Amino acid sequence: MKSQARVVIVGGGIMGVGLLYHLVQEGWRDVVLIEKGELTSGSTWHAAGQCPQFVGSLNLAKIHHEGTLLYPRLEELTGEAVSWHGCGGIRLATTDDEVEWFKKVYGVSKLVGYEAHLISPNEIREHHPFLETFGVKMGFLTVTDGHVAPADITNAMAAGARKGGATIYRRTLVTDIKPLPSGEWQVVTDKGAITCEHVVNAAGSYADAVGAWTGHNVPICNMLHHFIITEPLPELIDLKKELPVVRDPYSHAYLREETNGILIGPYETAGAHVCWEGKPPAWDFESELIAPELDRLMPWLEKATERLPLFAKAGIKSVISGAITHTPDSNFLLGPAPGPRNYWMCNGASIGICQGAGAGKYLAQRMVHGAADINMLEFDPRRFGDWADKDYTSVLSVVDYQHMYYCYRPGEQHPDKRPLRVSSLYDRLEAAGAQFQAVFGWERARWFDPSGKGEVYSFRRSNWFEPVRAECAAVRQRVGLMDLSTFAKFDVTGAGAAAFLERVCANRVPRKVGGIMLGHLLTESGRIESEITVTRLAEDHFYVLSAATAQLHDMDALRWRLEPGEDVAIADITDDYGVLVLAGPLSRDVLQPLTGEDLSNAGMRWLTGRVATVAGVAGVRLLRVNYVGELGWELHCPMPAMPKVFDALMASGKPHGIRLFGTYAMNSLRMEKAYRGWGGELTAEITMVEADMERFVHWDKDFAGKAATLKLKQEGPRISLVYMQVDASDADCAGNEPITQGGKIVGLTTGGAYGHTVGKSLTFAYVDPAKVDLDAPFEIEIYAEPKVARIIAQPAWDPDNARPRA
Ligand SMILES: Cc1cc2nc3c(=O)[nH]c(=O)nc-3n(C[C@H](O)[C@H](O)[C@H](O)COP(=O)(O)OP(=O)(O)OC[C@H]3O[C@@H](n4cnc5c(N)ncnc54)[C@H](O)[C@@H]3O)c2cc1C
Repeated sequence: MKSQARVVIVGGGIMGVGLLYHLVQEGWRDVVLIEKGELTSGSTWHAAGQCPQFVGSLNLAKIHHEGTLLYPRLEELTGEAVSWHGCGGIRLATTDDEVEWFKKVYGVSKLVGYEAHLISPNEIREHHPFLETFGVKMGFLTVTDGHVAPADITNAMAAGARKGGATIYRRTLVTDIKPLPSGEWQVVTDKGAITCEHVVNAAGSYADAVGAWTGHNVPICNMLHHFIITEPLPELIDLKKELPVVRDPYSHAYLREETNGILIGPYETAGAHVCWEGKPPAWDFESELIAPELDRLMPWLEKATERLPLFAKAGIKSVISGAITHTPDSNFLLGPAPGPRNYWMCNGASIGICQGAGAGKYLAQRMVHGAADINMLEFDPRRFGDWADKDYTSVLSVVDYQHMYYCYRPGEQHPDKRPLRVSSLYDRLEAAGAQFQAVFGWERARWFDPSGKGEVYSFRRSNWFEPVRAECAAVRQRVGLMDLSTFAKFDVTGAGAAAFLERVCANRVPRKVGGIMLGHLLTESGRIESEITVTRLAEDHFYVLSAATAQLHDMDALRWRLEPGEDVAIADITDDYGVLVLAGPLSRDVLQPLTGEDLSNAGMRWLTGRVATVAGVAGVRLLRVNYVGELGWELHCPMPAMPKVFDALMASGKPHGIRLFGTYAMNSLRMEKAYRGWGGELTAEITMVEADMERFVHWDKDFAGKAATLKLKQEGPRISLVYMQVDASDADCAGNEPITQGGKIVGLTTGGAYGHTVGKSLTFAYVDPAKVDLDAPFEIEIYAEPKVARIIAQPAWDPDNARPRA
């Protein structure tokens, strides 16, 4: 066995092998994969092998699409036989919500570039004459979907990787992974140890057990899933063309043809549970099935028979029942693990056969080049903190399994395991009608419901629209108050702190104590990795803020940029402070009576911060900054003192008409100001130049990613961010809507909202500057309805930025 390698992948299922293949494609040859049994002997061998492309998320859809491109070509590329069945797929919509969702996904299909059609029940029957279409409102036909024998594609990719120089050790059990003082990893096996630069946890059902060796919390669970295959049916033997795979929310199942019989796999919404009592399987578990639980399938099989009566005509030939990994939010874990660098996760896939090729391709790009061609944030393992413990993961994974065919409406989340992380104001906000959203475990208010009825989830503007209008009006005309304790918060201290931040941020670090700047950490390839707000509280003390979901992500982004011996300490103080955002033209009148600080422009300028006493609470970090574009302050209070400060602000604000507001209003207000958002407009696919953020780049100094950014600037942007006004009617852009001009797709939206103050529906979008006439109208498809959109040159609200400086 080798003693040294650049990469060691633990696990020879579709996910590990898909990555191995693509690492070689990206140019890394010194790559090793270790499998305790035979390749595919975990979950992969017994999968049904379907590769669907109907996915609402653009980035995930790109991953799914990749499989349908690669698998049919694998035989030609590797010389290994692959049984690709390009039979297409039809997903059925049985509710109006599903019809809306299909229209949204239809837009995504155009951006990804696969052929899809929204079809009627009659057209469905033309494609699938045996299907009963009772209750069906629409079908989503995906022409290039298919299914494949999972072992074929895994072995073909393994062969391709081997030909490119990769090494695969089968029948070798990894028993430990250790970080070495050199920054490398040691992978210990029952046949020797390998030292490597990168280690990848692709251990499928064992990913949490493997992660535990290095203290990584890996929120996956194994769920028992079945499919059933019938004996051959004469009706199918005679067919000239294979039937498309059907996905049916009525029977919660996939139904397809298999060797002239019928294959049905239900995702039961009752009775599903984790396997092996939540523990990983025994180390010698290999190519085995789990005892089937047919009783719990019966109601779903009966429904499947109603949908496809042919199913009842044949005897059952086989039942496949095996473990499938699920995560609490249905996405796999793909990307860097938190903590020491170069430990990667490539696990948690519940549709791994379909996803293995794309997941491998984009993770390989990320590992080899530092950034991928797609935005991988939604797959980043660091979206879960330690709050996603085993109990949380088990409960949410069951929910995820049971909702495989559920149509989530925008904003809809599950009530299970909530609340988990709350600010000390939670009870007060709940009493005020807060409609909470779970974000990185926290509860954060989206809006306040005066009716007490709660949010009616919808693909269109819903019962939050008018209350949000009132929240926005309060902020623009009087004063609003928001709990934004979810901010990730870090103290960066030490003699080297200023030089460190100067080196890692594209913007210039405030020279004076009290200065605030917006900083961006760029990848080596010049893409935007993180956005942070930095306040200089002392010569050697910087207070750094970033998005709630970036708490682990940005801790790593900062820590991984430290140089050996640098006198800098980075402390995560997220839970120590709560944050109140006080904003609006009357905010000074509300706050001034509560503090001895001079809040006038002369006493405290816009974009400055200091430590102050507010409402008798010492140690409040008072920052004159906000994301809504009004006069205002953020009050970062010691968490236990939040209620005292909150009560004082509400009392002081009462005569001024203070009103609580949430993130829906904040989004509307920031859109009016054309403030970009990290994760939406600012992602690791985009440069500062493309995002029109050059005013936050200080070209006169050195910073990480400068050379690449400069080079890309000189080459000219591939895409450009534009700000648009849309003739929307009852739904606004939510991101990933296609934009056309002259009938051709020229870009996509990144997010949007209705601007209540300006009376316009607004969106940001990336367009290809070479393809568009910036002065001409565009069309944006919102739920498959074209809406006219025009670029607006400056922020819709307060373009001179006078109000925050008032
Ligand atoms: C009944 C059923 C039907 C399915 N149908 C489909 C489908 O139609 N389409 C689809 O896309 N997906 C389907 N799936 C899901 C799919 O099987 C999984 O998502 C996929 O196989 C996961 O791949 P993986 O590589 O992550 O895990 P695995 O295939 O389990 O691979 C992990 C490997 O790691 C090895 N390993 C673990 N620990 C160690 C160690 N310490 N040392 C060495 N080796 C180790 C294991 O032996 C295993 O081979 C289905 C699953 C089931 C159960």
